[in-house]
Amino acid sequence: MLALSDGKKCPTCQTVMSYYRGTKFGHEIPDAATIEHVIPKCLGGSNENKNLTVRCNLCNRASGHSMNEWLQANRQNSSWEEIRMIMLYLCLEVFDITKAETLYPDLFRSFITKRISLEVHKEEVIS
Ligand SMILES: [Zn+2]
Repeated sequence: MLALSDGKKCPTCQTVMSYYRGTKFGHEIPDAATIEHVIPKCLGGSNENKNLTVRCNLCNRASGHSMNEWLQANRQNSSWEEIRMIMLYLCLEVFDITKAETLYPDLFRSFITKRISLEVHKEEVIS
């Protein structure tokens, strides 16, 4: 799945992804192709192919961070409607980021802020 996505664009940010075989990497390789659970496992997402997609390392990490933050703030008292909303948002974040921004501006902002801060951090590491 990852090898096939070498040279393809990240569905979220359109970055051309590269396949790094067998390497463990942090956010210093932002364009690395990574497997993403569209619905995270903590929300009951499965390991089946239909729940998996490939996204760039940076989007994957940023999404994970903002999701964790949302869960910490909302998990205890979130209603089924809120869980449903976050799942819908996550699908849009992967497959239609423009719609995600329009429909869920707060969640989108959280994701983009995380993504930018990861990018900034990367530059600090290099310099
Ligand atoms: Zn991306």
